[in-house]
Amino acid sequence: MAETIFSKILRGEIPCHKVYEDEHVLAFLDIGPLSRGHTLVIPKEEKAYVHELSDEQMAAIGRVLPRLCRAVTQVTGVKEYNILQNNGPLAHQAVFHVHFHIIPKPSEEEGLGVRWNPRPFSHEDGAKLAEALRDALAD
Ligand code: AMP
Repeated sequence: MAETIFSKILRGEIPCHKVYEDEHVLAFLDIGPLSRGHTLVIPKEEKAYVHELSDEQMAAIGRVLPRLCRAVTQVTGVKEYNILQNNGPLAHQAVFHVHFHIIPKPSEEEGLGVRWNPRPFSHEDGAKLAEALRDALAD
């Protein structure tokens, strides 16, 4: 994987406003915040996409995410928030090192805006799709 700006942050070559660090995880403030308190949580493993991460690294993020969300809601005083995680350019990923955004949602205008266009659902295709996914998971 090509190195990203987050590798430089991990090595301390570029400064960040650090919020949390342990053996596997670093969290720091986003410098282009959608709202005050917008925080990024990254694994130390240099992978672009979630599906490339080791179970251990993902578990380490999962372990600390609720605690980070508690701190962000407590300190900002904003109780509602989104967790966003983008994979690939079409999915709005700009930095190709896995990161989770914690984005406080203080008002309609601030924080994450979401376009949500549900598509028609076919139970026939859904049954096939779920079976194919179960098979893929069993491999
Ligand atoms: P994404 O579109 O999910 O890849 O988000 C990348 C995020 O990284 C954006 O929200 C940027 O504002 C943020 N970002 C880029 N460079 C830095 C940096 N040096 N320090 C903190 N956040 C950064």
